[in-house]
Amino acid sequence: MTNLPGMEYIIEITYLIATALFILSLKWLSSPTTARRGVFAGELGMLLAIVGTLLHHGILEYKWIFIALVLGTIIGVPLGKVAMTAVPQRTALSHAFGALCVTLVGTAMEVILGSLTFTGSLMAAGKLQEILPQRPITYKGQNFVNLGLLAVAIIVAGMLVAHPEKTQLFPLIVGIPLLFGVMMIVPIGGADMPTVISLLNSYAGLSAAAMGFVLDSKLLIIAGALDGASGLILSVNMSKAMNRSFSNVLFGAFGQEQASATGVQEARPVRSATPEEAAAILAAANKVVIVPGYGMAVAQAQHKVRELYDALTKRGVDVKFGIHPVAGRMPGHMNVLLAEADIPYDKLLDMDEINGEFPQADVALVIGANDVTNPAARTDPNSPIYGMPILDVDKARTVMVIKRSMAAGFAGIDNPLYYLDKTLMLFGDAKSFVGSIVRELGGGNE
Ligand code: NAP
Repeated sequence: MTNLPGMEYIIEITYLIATALFILSLKWLSSPTTARRGVFAGELGMLLAIVGTLLHHGILEYKWIFIALVLGTIIGVPLGKVAMTAVPQRTALSHAFGALCVTLVGTAMEVILGSLTFTGSLMAAGKLQEILPQRPITYKGQNFVNLGLLAVAIIVAGMLVAHPEKTQLFPLIVGIPLLFGVMMIVPIGGADMPTVISLLNSYAGLSAAAMGFVLDSKLLIIAGALDGASGLILSVNMSKAMNRSFSNVLFGAFGQEQASATGVQEARPVRSATPEEAAAILAAANKVVIVPGYGMAVAQAQHKVRELYDALTKRGVDVKFGIHPVAGRMPGHMNVLLAEADIPYDKLLDMDEINGEFPQADVALVIGANDVTNPAARTDPNSPIYGMPILDVDKARTVMVIKRSMAAGFAGIDNPLYYLDKTLMLFGDAKSFVGSIVRELGGGNE
């Protein structure tokens, strides 16, 4: 660095601070208490990275950069305002843009990663937004065809590296991975997309890191590597929490169609209760653990849940929340919703922390969660979710489950929890049922 002129020093220092902020951002994002700071650090890091790049002496004219910045802002601002349930597909679109960027600027291997991530992310966003059919489409020899395509692209890239003058090969290393990205997502069901998006996040990061080597940008290498590694860790964690083999994810082999979420109907009797009865049981409890799931997100019941939390704590009931790592449809889904409703962070306990507390709980109140509470994961070796870690709600003295029907959840399987003597089914939409309980308890804003 000793030979660098003044401006270069400033740029290098700006990049160094940006890098530190990206690392801190990831660290802070890993806990709800520091997550906001993490977002801010990430934003500031990105701002510094952009400013540092704009100071670069290699830039001769700012006109096109300015136009690109304005265009990016026009597209970016509305993208930041989508509904919470649309965040996975929004994230996929961001990866698609990043990957397209690498494809357009790149020259070699990074083009392969960029192009397959571009079409893969667009396909993922389309499936989640239900613009494309959600159904997985599989055929015999699919993995062979897909991996074959990828192998051809890599061989062509190798040839191009060895003989850069053979420019006629270049369209192949863009075109084949573009096709591969589509083929990779075709066999995967819409509901599995959040895990795949996390993986595409990793691919986008790796392509950016490769791009960093081409452009000789340490910042891009570091930011890309952070993105690639964190996306990979997240996908592995999600696969573990769902008890899926990670190699299945890597090779896009989620070929099996998920049973329909409404498919399973059970004739076995269950006990049900009214909001009045549920309110009476909750009011008499000393300790209640609330377990939210996808249904709470669908019903947007988080603010009513907050009112319930207030009404119960006012009566001296100890209320905590048990958060499963894959409750809902994206990582951190429940944390974000409950934080939006201003539930104190220290009341949100991860699965490992809360599981020891269920035996002392008078009531486990399950709100729109299903698979993440299914005891078959512990007891039935034939269950598709056998081995998946679950919240041990069945160990509480009484279990109450708010859902609209006996329909299955994401995994498409029945839940033996509902037929236990200690379980009361509270049939109804989560928002209105919780609202009715709150009214019975004399709380709420209405
Ligand atoms: P779930 O197993 O999908 O069950 C959600 C339940 O909510 C359904 O059984 C449904 O029953 C009920 N529900 C839907 N709308 C409702 C409403 N308006 N009011 C009340 N209840 C409603 O959800 P989960 O327990 O949260 O488990 C998440 C599942 O998603 C897991 O299988 C996980 O592996 C998977 N997954 C998660 C992620 C992630 O990152 N979080 C990513 C991919 C897959 P009714 O229809 O009877 O109401």
